[in-house]
Amino acid sequence: MRKYTEDEKFMKEAIRQAKKAEAIGDVPIGCVIVSDGRIIARGYNKRNRNKTVLAHAELLAMSKACRKAGDWRLEDCTMYITLEPCQMCAGAIVQARIPRVVIGSMNPKAGCGGSILNLLQMKEFNHQVEVTRGVLEEECSEMLSAFFRKLRQKKKEKKAEVSEQ
Ligand SMILES: [Zn+2]
Repeated sequence: MRKYTEDEKFMKEAIRQAKKAEAIGDVPIGCVIVSDGRIIARGYNKRNRNKTVLAHAELLAMSKACRKAGDWRLEDCTMYITLEPCQMCAGAIVQARIPRVVIGSMNPKAGCGGSILNLLQMKEFNHQVEVTRGVLEEECSEMLSAFFRKLRQKKKEKKAEVSEQ
């Protein structure tokens, strides 16, 4: 069996977080924040559960990490996320001066870590992030497509039920 790299090991944990989101009916997106080779915060998408866009995996994990660090800066942290961050989270990452972000799969429809925009690496801002893309990409993207496949199937079944009545 192939040995996992350090990045893959932490991405695995982000994937485990994403599965928790799926279990509560939210889109499976997970995040962990690592400092000194240790996970200091975890988060998973709770947008639907909490009924707020502020409950993205990255923001929830960042809140926890900041509480632990006692600082709004996360200057010695690496963030692992199963999906490329949106504009809001990418903005927060830059604001918190996180030096490095590791991304599983890209999000061509909404991603701001290189897809639509690359907010993480704009030289005009006072902070640029080192970005690693495509870590366990297949696993991360398959998890999302499976989720949406199931969702479409459920919708179809519901429609069929309604028309039978
Ligand atoms: Zn986000």
